[in-house]
Amino acid sequence: MQKREYLNFEGITISSYEYGEFDKIFNILSPHKGIITAIIKRIRKTSNKNFDYIDVFQKMNFKASITDNFYIIYEAKSVETWFERPIKLTNLSSGNIIAELTINFNSINENNNYIYHLVSKCLKWISNDIFIFTLVYFQIKLLLAEGIFPEINICLNCNNKIQPGDYLLNLIESGIFCNKCSEKTKFSSLKLLEQEIRLLKHIKNTEYDNNLNINNIITKKVELSLYKKLSTYIKFYTNKELKSEKILFSSLNKY
Ligand SMILES: [Zn+2]
Repeated sequence: MQKREYLNFEGITISSYEYGEFDKIFNILSPHKGIITAIIKRIRKTSNKNFDYIDVFQKMNFKASITDNFYIIYEAKSVETWFERPIKLTNLSSGNIIAELTINFNSINENNNYIYHLVSKCLKWISNDIFIFTLVYFQIKLLLAEGIFPEINICLNCNNKIQPGDYLLNLIESGIFCNKCSEKTKFSSLKLLEQEIRLLKHIKNTEYDNNLNINNIITKKVELSLYKKLSTYIKFYTNKELKSEKILFSSLNKY
């Protein structure tokens, strides 16, 4: 006999899909266990007072029964919702990029609580129409949390301090080579501009709070090209394409 357990937890719904005729499966990010995959039965059939409206990108209090690591949600009450429904395409695709990255990096370590609050904060910024900065901020903080943020202060080859300028970032070695040593890094490299290196350093060392303003100077300086470079760097590690990127790029073009 499998033992049945019960769990109350707060979580953020980050993706969902239909299961069978009436059921739905959600990936729920939680502060203590990382991503929990859970089923809600007959979600499309019944109106049940145990359930508030439930969709992606909502913070909710859940009650679940667990048998053999299989979660069935039997109550879900709304705590916070970031986006008006139906969700605007740019908000949805930005949120989906964060969800995909979170799932790709989901690790069973002590970072879960940090990642949970990071996702929560980033969804709030996206709801305030801060897109590119938020995605770059998320990329940088995720890389730091996973311990794979590149070395950008000293040359990987000669250990000399990197002076302001444009440099090649080597994807395999995960760091910058100075100009004297750049002959050694012709392959698998990305060019980082001086301004981009400066932004990387600044964001790496700064924790912005929930109330980030769209008129913040740094948020305006971060451009899509930096997002794309970091995305290339991340893909090199995860070996996974982000499905939501193309949708984001095409929706940004409409602005
Ligand atoms: Zn060097």
